[in-house]
Amino acid sequence: MSLKFNSGNSIGLLGGTFDPIHLGHLHVINQLAKKFDQLALIPTGEPWMKPDKPIASPKERLEMCEAALDDLPEEIQEKVFVLDIEVKKSGPSYTFDTLQSLRAFFPRDSFTLILGTDAAASFSKWKRPDDIKKMAEILVVKRPGSKASDFKELEIQALEISSTKIREEFKVKGSSELISKSVTKYIKKNGLYGGK
Ligand code: ATP
Ligand code: MG
Repeated sequence: MSLKFNSGNSIGLLGGTFDPIHLGHLHVINQLAKKFDQLALIPTGEPWMKPDKPIASPKERLEMCEAALDDLPEEIQEKVFVLDIEVKKSGPSYTFDTLQSLRAFFPRDSFTLILGTDAAASFSKWKRPDDIKKMAEILVVKRPGSKASDFKELEIQALEISSTKIREEFKVKGSSELISKSVTKYIKKNGLYGGK
């Protein structure tokens, strides 16, 4: 990792349930890594905004994120890391709390929170949204078929892939082409999503 001492790095933060992490996420990560010094993936412990509990456990979702990094080009891998800060905590994961904890570890770095349009749409219901805006810049990735958001949008492409679609494919045919090699292997090994 190329860290600049004392000058402050730009760190992009991509949080999510990652149940499972998919090629749509990796496509975004590939493009974002070029825009930041570092990019942190933050699997959530308890996604309190979602109506259903995740299928995979916090530990499994964290390990799938780590596995997915192996499938990225080397120069991208160097910039991306997975943070266990939310999966290690009990109770709901609030971005406000996460940003506060991260600030202690990265006192001089600038944070940019990256949200897909669906996540951006619920932002005003999050814990202390106005304080979050003071702690990090917010940039939105427009997902296919979604409406524009009130936030500044990133000029990057998004694929029409969701974890929901992948879980459905596993239910119907026991596999999916929309996840990367190492994640497919992890899912099979751990018998997740009814994988074959
Ligand atoms: P689910 O269908 O279970 O909601 P998801 O595919 O939306 O899953 P999440 O883990 O909820 O995946 O997403 C984490 C973050 O990545 C969110 O900000 C979401 O908007 C964004 N994201 C998810 N899929 C894509 C995609 N295909 N392109 C761009 N951003 C995405
Ligand atoms: Mg979603």
